[in-house]
Amino acid sequence: MSTSPRAGIGFDTHRLEQGRRLILGGVEIEGAPAGLAGHSDADVLTHAVIDALLGAAGLGDIGEHFPDTDERWRDADSIELLRAVRDKLSAAGYTPANLDATLACEEPKLSPFRDEMRTRIAEAAGLEQDAVNVKFTTGERMGFVGRGEGIAALAVATVAKA
Ligand code: MG
Repeated sequence: MSTSPRAGIGFDTHRLEQGRRLILGGVEIEGAPAGLAGHSDADVLTHAVIDALLGAAGLGDIGEHFPDTDERWRDADSIELLRAVRDKLSAAGYTPANLDATLACEEPKLSPFRDEMRTRIAEAAGLEQDAVNVKFTTGERMGFVGRGEGIAALAVATVAKA
């Protein structure tokens, strides 16, 4: 097996829906006007991170490992799924090295929650907090993000041979 670094990308979107809790990076965003719809807790940031890690390790995608047709994953805590993915990487001989992610969300303002998101993701992925970066942007009032119809997340991961 090559020892050169391996990178993976992850991208996810979820629709905003009234009456749902908004969970991003394992953190409940208090006071959010709407939450994300989905089979699990719809944590779009954690889903992008999971796909980035699976991609870096050559292990497919989140839908293969946690199908949304499976009742086991209904309302699943995505941070727990991330923990399970860390174990899958470990079984394949890889350990996460760093994560970088961008959330595209028109509102609410998420920067007050940044450090808590980094801490939760880092803990589940087995990384130090400074190896997890989370950035925020808006849709500039354009497209589904800008109209407040949904939130998108993009993530990059690198993994090293364990
Ligand atoms: Mg998703």
